[in-house]
Amino acid sequence: MSDLPSVLQRLDSDARADADWGQVAQYIPQLAQVDPAQFAISVALADGSLHEAGACEVPFSVQSITKVFTLAIALGRSGDQLWTRVGREPSGRAFNSIVQLEQEAGRPRNPFINAGAIVTTDEVLGARAPREALAEIIRFVRTAAGSDDIHINEAVAASETAYGHRNFALAHFLAAHDNLRNTPEKALGTYFHHCALEMTTSQLAMAGRFLLDAPGMPHLVSPRRIRRLNALMLTCGHYDGSGDFAYRVGIPGKSGVGGGILAIVPGQASIAVWSPGLNRYGNSHKGTEALAKLTSEMDWSIF
Ligand code: GLN
Repeated sequence: MSDLPSVLQRLDSDARADADWGQVAQYIPQLAQVDPAQFAISVALADGSLHEAGACEVPFSVQSITKVFTLAIALGRSGDQLWTRVGREPSGRAFNSIVQLEQEAGRPRNPFINAGAIVTTDEVLGARAPREALAEIIRFVRTAAGSDDIHINEAVAASETAYGHRNFALAHFLAAHDNLRNTPEKALGTYFHHCALEMTTSQLAMAGRFLLDAPGMPHLVSPRRIRRLNALMLTCGHYDGSGDFAYRVGIPGKSGVGGGILAIVPGQASIAVWSPGLNRYGNSHKGTEALAKLTSEMDWSIF
């Protein structure tokens, strides 16, 4: 096994040496303005140490990575009831696909595609005001990360609300199939706000430790639930790129359209990587490449 700090330094310099940064997400105007030429990686080990390289103190929009936290909260609030509303199968389609939701009568394939995450957010909301649900989500993330300096970027949330036509279409479709308890506006307002949370890779790697099931880690969900969250991350965490990610990286991961990825070596390491340029699946281009090299160098795999 290689020496982790020197591997991380090499991944950072390799990332900077390669001119192909991928393309930042265009459909959320605030994210379209982000400079793609950025890279950061942080690894929190089960022994309590944190190793990192690159711009690991720069906050970025975590976007869909928050779906892991909201899923943990939803399952904590209503247990298996969520599964009557959302499936647990990979979708094989883009994160914001509408066609499958129509074919499958308003029951999203899994909690990580947008439709499924909107239902999960609706479950977290329950009968509460969005402010209360968001406070719970932020509290959970801050507790997991051990940092209070984690906030929602209101401009990103507003930008997504103004241009979120596909998400509104999905939410209305869910409502038409009686799979939304709150109004589409309320569910989406909450969803857009938790997606607009900003974190550094240091904070995200620390927050991911709740998925490690190792002594000394933040104990926020049961070991059984940790295994299940990791199973869903492996099978559905990268949308229609999930198979390729499992093949190349070999561990569970959840991507966000802000260019972040949270990946877990069960019992051993929580890894956060960020580079805003995306590949054709909408997952971080350089983040995925760096994770593939990291797991290979460190001999980390669940298989
Ligand atoms: N907020 C984004 C959206 O709903 C999240 C998508 C993502 O990160 N893949 O489109």
